[in-house]
Amino acid sequence: MLEMNQRHWVASAAMEYEGNARLDASSLTVASWNLQADRCKPGHDGSDRRGVETCLQQLLREKPHIIVLLEMQRCKRQLRQRDCRYCAAGRCREAHAEWADAVLRENGYDGDFHRARMAQTVGLYFREDALSCAADNGRMLFCHFDARFGEGMNSSKGSVLAPLRHRATGLVLLAVATHLSVPKLPDGALDTSKPLGELVQLRRKVEDVFVRNGGALPLIVAGDFNSVPSSGGEGYAPPHVYERLNEAGRLGWGLHSAYASVLGQEPGFTAWGPDFLGCIDYIFFSPDAFEPLEVLGVPSQPPQDEDAPPSDHLLMQTRLRVRRAIPEANLGTGINSHKPR
Ligand SMILES: [Zn+2]
Repeated sequence: MLEMNQRHWVASAAMEYEGNARLDASSLTVASWNLQADRCKPGHDGSDRRGVETCLQQLLREKPHIIVLLEMQRCKRQLRQRDCRYCAAGRCREAHAEWADAVLRENGYDGDFHRARMAQTVGLYFREDALSCAADNGRMLFCHFDARFGEGMNSSKGSVLAPLRHRATGLVLLAVATHLSVPKLPDGALDTSKPLGELVQLRRKVEDVFVRNGGALPLIVAGDFNSVPSSGGEGYAPPHVYERLNEAGRLGWGLHSAYASVLGQEPGFTAWGPDFLGCIDYIFFSPDAFEPLEVLGVPSQPPQDEDAPPSDHLLMQTRLRVRRAIPEANLGTGINSHKPR
């Protein structure tokens, strides 16, 4: 596991050549990690949590300001039948999401995970010393993908959203943790209509937040998108979702990817499996609000069998510099208003 443990930060050209691009209070570290639910690991039944413990220990050593977690494992019996006596007693060995949530809270984070039907759910956490919830009611938002906008397929994926105020700069941003479906039909054929439908639902949720805010907010959208980069070919996870997030215009999101911005291209892989090796995890940002200064470098090849990594995905991490703060005049509007108008 030598190479996996020796990941180094890689600086952007601006960071290396411009004296003003420094890591200071105006920078934000964002991490995204598909933990691989322990029950999905080879030889595991989900009743021990060594995998998620190892992941959390690493995250708490690095203390990123925003943490996006995918595949937080929940107790299936409690989700389906609501009668797990171990969950009722608060000591269920399969309830890893609840455990991780408590550990993060003990370590200075606020946030939540999606509490709908997902057995492997999505979480979004932020460091309370650097960020505060900017919504009037202090609540986060949850998007459960269903079949309404897709192709009539049920989805077990979703997103967690939080309007956040960056204490050091006053910037209000919308952080979005998301996990999209694998682009496959039940018969195994490749088809991106399901994740693209989920992206449409997420876009509606985001625009709803913008309307309530009285204007658009800078975005940080991170997670596992189950889509390879445009240059990655069709193969296993066609790039349609990636392209939609990158493209500007009416349908596109106009976002940039932190890794592609710093490295010049996406990593060769972020996830691996018996029949897959590719880049499907990303940290996207609004380029008018943020500039990536660094990314946590990626190894040249996936770990070998004996390396026993805690997940079958890489931890993705970037440091973003805030380019601008929201003008003071916008702070009193919509979701973040506590003043009489
Ligand atoms: Zn349980």
